[in-house]
Amino acid sequence: MSVISYKCPNCDGELIFDPKTQKYKCEYCFSLFDQAQLDAMKPDTQEEQTDSTKDSYEAESAKEDAFEQFDEQNGEDGMIYTCPSCGAQIVTDATTAATFCYYCHNPVVLGGRLSGENMPDKIIPFAIDKKEAEKKFLDYVNSKKFIPRAFFNKKQIELFSGVYFPYWIYNTSIKGRMTAEAKKVRVYRHGDTEFTETSFYEVEREGNIQLQDMTENALKKANHVLADGVMPYRMEDAKAFNFGFLSGFLAEKKDIEKDEVSAALQAEAKDYADKMLRESIDGYSSVHSRNSSFSANKEEYAYTLLPVWTITYPGKNGKTYYYSMNGQTGKICGELPVDYKKVALTALISGVAALLIGLLGGYFIW
Ligand SMILES: [Zn+2]
Ligand SMILES: [Zn+2]
Repeated sequence: MSVISYKCPNCDGELIFDPKTQKYKCEYCFSLFDQAQLDAMKPDTQEEQTDSTKDSYEAESAKEDAFEQFDEQNGEDGMIYTCPSCGAQIVTDATTAATFCYYCHNPVVLGGRLSGENMPDKIIPFAIDKKEAEKKFLDYVNSKKFIPRAFFNKKQIELFSGVYFPYWIYNTSIKGRMTAEAKKVRVYRHGDTEFTETSFYEVEREGNIQLQDMTENALKKANHVLADGVMPYRMEDAKAFNFGFLSGFLAEKKDIEKDEVSAALQAEAKDYADKMLRESIDGYSSVHSRNSSFSANKEEYAYTLLPVWTITYPGKNGKTYYYSMNGQTGKICGELPVDYKKVALTALISGVAALLIGLLGGYFIW
């Protein structure tokens, strides 16, 4: 396993992915580099630093992106890494794939966590940077009433973090067949007599149904309300995965495998296909589907990292409140705490105002 840290060739400062320019920015001398330049920066010494026990997958992925590598201290499942910049220990969760050094705050990408079968297929890079995210957050909080003051303080806002979360994106093409019994009922009068004419139809439908970008969470500890709340993403802007996009952000790797989500995704796709075929049978008074069969003739699963700006806030009642924003589109999903003292005060003030109006009213009547 390796720790990847991207260094500026001009000043040796840290390079981070800059959502505004979609390039790599040096935080110290503000130089900008594009993907091709970043890829070209690989040091010649890299192979020497590569751990000889690495398997071929890791060596492969390391070759692709890393240009500063340090070995993990305690083996394959280890949680402690060494910071390439200051040498301090970085303690991580089992699913952490990118983080910051606690001591020197330099961004580090844990390359080994995303290698082999854990190498994402795609990524949607952040399009909204931290400054814009903070502004949108403050605008949102300011538009809400009765939010505790602590929610606005600088320390709290600094906890605002950009995280790439893992998802499975499913595309499928389904061949579907349906037979149904349909009725048309016509009522008409002839003289004094009302006639009801019922016609019976045997209806058949057959077709290919393409379903794209069905999304399923791939992280066990993900908050479901939050994960669903920031959907959807513009998947057409997804890029081939590259470690560089993670620099300067947090990232989680998947811990839910394709096999664990495929049955649910296939069932959901079949429900859609069934509904679409059914809805194509129209113009009848009633339709009873008798028989249907569906088979997928193409299936694609893409392990994809999606960007979210997020902040959590521990409420006094022990509940954790959160705010999240889609890092690509800016769509907001949040549950903010209510400060009951503020609510009570406002109620008191409006009570006083009502009393005053009452008194004034009384005065005029008098
Ligand atoms: Zn620099
Ligand atoms: Zn450090």
